[in-house]
Amino acid sequence: MEKIKMTTPIVELDGDEMTRHIWQWIKDILILPNVDLKSEYYDLGLANREKTCDKVTVDSANAIKKYGVGVKCATITPNAQRVKEYNLTQMWKSPNGTVRAILDGTVFRAPIMVKGITPYIPTWTKPITIARHAYGDIYKDVEGYVKKDGKAKLVIEDADGRREIEIFDFAKSGGVVMGMHNTDKSITSFAKSCFNYALDTRQSLWFATKDTISKTYDHRFKDIFASVFESEYKSKFQEANIEYFYTLIDDAVARVVRSEGGMIWACKNYDGDVMSDMVATAFGSLAMMTSVLVSPDGNYEYEAAHGTVTRHYYKFLKGEDTSTNPVATIYAWSGGLRKRGQLDGINALVEFADKLEKATVDTIEGGFMTGDLAAIYKGEASVVKLNTVDFLKKIAEKLA
Ligand code: NAP
Ligand code: MG
Repeated sequence: MEKIKMTTPIVELDGDEMTRHIWQWIKDILILPNVDLKSEYYDLGLANREKTCDKVTVDSANAIKKYGVGVKCATITPNAQRVKEYNLTQMWKSPNGTVRAILDGTVFRAPIMVKGITPYIPTWTKPITIARHAYGDIYKDVEGYVKKDGKAKLVIEDADGRREIEIFDFAKSGGVVMGMHNTDKSITSFAKSCFNYALDTRQSLWFATKDTISKTYDHRFKDIFASVFESEYKSKFQEANIEYFYTLIDDAVARVVRSEGGMIWACKNYDGDVMSDMVATAFGSLAMMTSVLVSPDGNYEYEAAHGTVTRHYYKFLKGEDTSTNPVATIYAWSGGLRKRGQLDGINALVEFADKLEKATVDTIEGGFMTGDLAAIYKGEASVVKLNTVDFLKKIAEKLA
């Protein structure tokens, strides 16, 4: 069979530990036999980040800006223990943080659904995609303790002059205060990424804050989303037959739980932190969560939501058989190749991505799966637990 040709390179960001091996296996077993892969390769493995003083991470993000589509393997974010383990000269920053800062993007996470792995909430028959605003609020706050008899004030100095607003008079007891911020620019980027992704995937967009209580701060989020929608997206949403729906955060939580899924739920930073773990867990498995970073000017980086699966890697190094789930990493590749195919008008590449995902789901629904899924599978097929490579080979058989 002739391999599918590509015209523009996909930016390939390699990573660490167990997922670094899975990365190569996916390429060897599923991609390279079918696609004449054109990729611009960046090795974000920790050793090479050290060797290049992390320049490789910055270069890879700029390459995604240049070509528009990247696919990323999970990477180690170093902590004190990793600095020792890898003999690092510095505790290099999170690669995801670096790439996100350069692309100015929003992360969308969605579960891969298969028959037999049932969500804890039975009405959820379609995936729920969480979009988390990744800038500001309590993640960039300043905090302080105020002693009894003290006072805390908010001081604002801008073109309108200086204002002092009393936060609280601690006459009866000491206590805590916090100052936090966000910017119009960041909120606008977040809104555009969300509206674009909703159009891209033809799903309605929900957004919620607590604007009834937070009449300036949260209200600003509500107003920016509304004005971006009115001026740039309203008619496109009508054409696509999807809607933009705004409500209060507590109402959103109640509605999401009662819903059948199938929407994108845009969340402020803290809400997204909390709700993405709730949604991921309720859908069954972290190993089945996809993740895509979308920038407001239309660049895409696809990856798995999970990490480098260190515990499995240490077993693998000892020569033990590992049954690590490669599905979210397969979907990172299929997502990236599909987007490349769409942008370049290569139908065969789009079809290949669809078939690869279908073969993956069909393999699991046929009873062949990795250990993590075997443990929670409730379907009708009799379960065969496979190691990672044998599972990938089963998918390759289906694909063929
Ligand atoms: P992790 O790699 O996601 O793994 C945590 C646990 O979740 C695993 O030990 C495993 O549970 C289960 N798991 C996750 N993915 C799985 C898969 N594909 N198949 C089967 N089980 C899976 O998180 P971590 O151990 O906290 O972090 C390890 C490293 O990854 C860290 O250095 C961290 O910095 C990095 N990390 C990177 C990213 C990223 O690049 N996007 C994200 C998160 C973490 P059992 O052990 O019970 O089988
Ligand atoms: Mg969290």
